[in-house]
Amino acid sequence: MEWCLSMPKVELHAHLNGSIRDSTLLELTEGLIRKGVMDISELEHIIRKYNRSVAEVFKLFDLIHILTTDHTTVTRITKEVIEDFATENVVYLELRTTPKRNDSVGMTKRSYVEAVLKGLRSITSVEVDFIPHCEDSKSLFSSLPPIGHVRKRIYVRLLLSIDRRETAEAAMETVKLALEMRPFGVVGIDLSGNPSIGDWTTYLPALKFAREQGLYVTLHCGEVPNSEEIKNMLDFRPQRIGHACHLEDEHWRQLKSSKIPVEICLTSNIRTLTIRSIHVHHFGDLYKAKHPLVLCTDDSGVFSTSLTEEYKYAADSFGLGRREMFELSRNGIEHIFANSQVKEDLRNFFNSVAKKYG
Ligand code: 5GP
Repeated sequence: MEWCLSMPKVELHAHLNGSIRDSTLLELTEGLIRKGVMDISELEHIIRKYNRSVAEVFKLFDLIHILTTDHTTVTRITKEVIEDFATENVVYLELRTTPKRNDSVGMTKRSYVEAVLKGLRSITSVEVDFIPHCEDSKSLFSSLPPIGHVRKRIYVRLLLSIDRRETAEAAMETVKLALEMRPFGVVGIDLSGNPSIGDWTTYLPALKFAREQGLYVTLHCGEVPNSEEIKNMLDFRPQRIGHACHLEDEHWRQLKSSKIPVEICLTSNIRTLTIRSIHVHHFGDLYKAKHPLVLCTDDSGVFSTSLTEEYKYAADSFGLGRREMFELSRNGIEHIFANSQVKEDLRNFFNSVAKKYG
């Protein structure tokens, strides 16, 4: 399925620290082991495991965060993650990350985001558009020679994540930071973190404020069974939700009538055993119902996947062909959080290559 790789794709649910390259993770781990900061036995057990439970995944994130919370590393992984997505023909990426404080290295939430932006600016091997322009400025795909004649091109927009371990005040700080960083491509807010921790209503004031101020909101919803939370999240009407695994009949009805687009992360859901088999994954039902959907990686590093692999997985598991997969990818444009000029540029670009996938 070479076409899965060459096909332009839209990625809307990718966590920066979950998308770190294996080679970089190992290199950073070895560095800390050499310095005697880490115990290799604990690391080996978790890093080398293939199927990790939700609890183990969050343990791994704690380890990754020990390795990545200094400015230089944040800059490096941002650059690498964007290069990797561009290599597999992702033409629009919404990258999400949780701004972190690390007093020991003088890191504030703001300087964390600045380190991410530095990573974006440092990319030279790929054409990157991450600063929103005015409506009549040049577009990434229409302003350059046809693809194949120049380097790969990718739009990148950022979402700042609120972690479910944070306080209401810390969440509000993240939203205010997102507002300040809008001129640099921050378009929205995500609520993520261990779904078994905390009460999402803690973040409602921050999420409502974000929405009032014109930021887009996406919520991790239904990763664990929690009927009341799922209902309340759907009532909130975020612009998108991620996962949607443990919905009950009444939630499915509510979701379908609301038409809230769902970010689907097949490999992540199967590896963490959130869904017991790909054949009963709700992608099948939502796809048949023509519900707005977009295939995503979630954490390409942690789950050893890529967006190309996710498209292959869906095509193989649900018997979908090249044309259908292309349409699925193209429809993703309608659910991005960037402005209408970016949407129009992407639509034109997809139209220009559509006959290859017909
Ligand atoms: P970061 O925000 O540090 O760049 O990316 C890693 C973080 O994203 C994790 O610590 C966690 O808060 C969040 N995250 C990554 N994958 C998942 C997931 O599958 N579910 C949830 N709820 N949060 C996730």
